[in-house]
Amino acid sequence: MLTQSREVATEAQVAARRAQTDSPDFFALLPLPYAENALAPVISANTLRIHYGKHYKGYVDKLNKLVDRTGYADLTLEEVVTTTALEAEQSEIFNNAAQAWNHAFYWRSLSPNGGLPSAALRARIDSSFGDVQTLKQELGAAALTQFGSGWAWLVLDGSKLRVVKTGNAQTPLTTQMKPLLTIDVWEHAYYLDFQNRRADYVSGVLDKLINWQFVSENLGEQ
Ligand code: FE
Repeated sequence: MLTQSREVATEAQVAARRAQTDSPDFFALLPLPYAENALAPVISANTLRIHYGKHYKGYVDKLNKLVDRTGYADLTLEEVVTTTALEAEQSEIFNNAAQAWNHAFYWRSLSPNGGLPSAALRARIDSSFGDVQTLKQELGAAALTQFGSGWAWLVLDGSKLRVVKTGNAQTPLTTQMKPLLTIDVWEHAYYLDFQNRRADYVSGVLDKLINWQFVSENLGEQ
């Protein structure tokens, strides 16, 4: 596991950290890395505005309220996720922290100019899946078979690339696997554009919006 126990910060330490910032918030929103209309027509500006400004912001705002005056406010977002994943009584903090992290990862997993995998990435994909098309099929199948809300992921598991899915706020960040790419399959990610047609949203994302450069960066490649 990536998690480890940490000492909870004292109130004085938390107050000192807060005094060093201009913001009353501990965890900030990741700025959207493209314009609200940049992913249209697959993801409309309306969907992105509500997804980012209401759902994502809602998780981050709630997290900031929940960690106020607790030792969690002294941790990084990743540390809050991995620490509270092991603490059943902290499920509310875990859910909001994991959703904050998953969404920040999702914004970067998409790009209006996704392009194609680099030669180095293509070689890794070929050795794990056979070819890029098979990877896309597996990712699409994971996205479609995730029952209810959740996420489809491309991860690095040991030396191999793998596709996995998680329910609700669950995230591979709490496992040995390294997240490389994700697709949000909560209904709020696509309902305004596609209603119940999750398959159309997923195929649009896979065909037009995958940020292969982000996958390469997460693998430590150029
Ligand atoms: Fe979402």
